[in-house]
Amino acid sequence: MSAVNATILPGATLGVLGGGQLGRMFVHAAQSMGYFTAVLDADPTSPAGLVSHHHVRSGYEDPQGLAELARLSAAVTTEFENVPAAALQTLALTRPVSPAGEAVAIAQDRAAEKAHFVRCGVPCAPYAEITTPEQLAAVGANLLPGILKTTRMGYDGKGQARVRTAAELAAAWDDMGRVDCVLEKMLPLAHECSVIVARGRDGTIVNLPVQRNLHRDGILAVTEVHEGNVPPAQAQQAVAAAQSVAQGLDYVGVLCVEFFVLEDGSLVVNEIAPRPHNSGHYSQNALDVSQFELQVRCMTGLPLVQPRQHSAAVMLNLLGDLWFKDGTTASTPAWDQVLALPGTHLHLYGKADAKRARKMGHLNITAATPERAHAVALQAAAILGIAPF
Ligand code: ATP
Ligand code: MG
Repeated sequence: MSAVNATILPGATLGVLGGGQLGRMFVHAAQSMGYFTAVLDADPTSPAGLVSHHHVRSGYEDPQGLAELARLSAAVTTEFENVPAAALQTLALTRPVSPAGEAVAIAQDRAAEKAHFVRCGVPCAPYAEITTPEQLAAVGANLLPGILKTTRMGYDGKGQARVRTAAELAAAWDDMGRVDCVLEKMLPLAHECSVIVARGRDGTIVNLPVQRNLHRDGILAVTEVHEGNVPPAQAQQAVAAAQSVAQGLDYVGVLCVEFFVLEDGSLVVNEIAPRPHNSGHYSQNALDVSQFELQVRCMTGLPLVQPRQHSAAVMLNLLGDLWFKDGTTASTPAWDQVLALPGTHLHLYGKADAKRARKMGHLNITAATPERAHAVALQAAAILGIAPF
């Protein structure tokens, strides 16, 4: 076995690009397995930087910062989807990097991503690329009403506009500064789901159970995971599609594939995230291996085992809005009341300022049955001021 493929055992230092909450939970998982950690993020108070052994305070394009991260780390991963692919490629010259810059580059670009889905034979929403006025003028009525999405840098519904007519489309593209976009046909969604797969260097692939997701205002609000949350035929189809998307990228690492289930029961892929995903956070408390531990296992070459769900789970996202339930000054939500409910697990990201729409943490609710998990989640939601679901 060459050095590049040697397993990196606990005691080594693992590096991560990005210091957000996903990086923080990666750091927690790595540390609990006996690894040291290094985070690269310019923000001195980044959620992951605050809890890591090492914190390299630099931007993603700073050669000195990248060199320092490489010096500290036996292997490097990313928690931030929009990290420049070139940074991953530079690091890969001296260290194992997963996922690879080439795969991340595809996930960063909605047009490249859709082309990849087509290559894998996985259906996505009808769409058109809009990069020139000619392409805009050529848009067919079959794509309207639609959603105009910037090709790059979108997240949590940002960089999107819903358009009903050609005139609204033209106005929305102007508002976006005529940056490269894709227009997607608005589809009649019955619900949304996602599948997280982890693929090792040797091609072993494991998956988390299918997650059923509820979005509000373009942001994930609730994830429910239990047997039967999605009809079995669709669940099988989603897992197979996620596996082929990962295999087609020769992907190493944790990958989330988001899907729409349409009113007629058909399954359509929405997008991929080249990292652990918000919809997989329940895995921390409801599975015997979390998505963050899988990230550690992938990047170090440790064996991958199929996760086993031991409890039904509901995850509630805790947005900054909950701090402003009673007005304009921020007040801490009633965590004590929430934690009095059985099977509640609080995860907060250590962000100092609560702001509306900002992801501050999440609450995992686990129970022996889906009905019980749902009932407790509704109680927690009522205490926190989250609308029922
Ligand atoms: P993320 O935070 O997941 O990266 P994003 O900003 O990349 O979000 P999308 O996942 O593209 O955004 O869309 C956000 C939400 O908007 C979807 O989860 C879905 O609820 C809705 N949506 C997006 N595209 C469509 C579509 N073509 N038809 C119907 N609804 C859609
Ligand atoms: Mg999305």
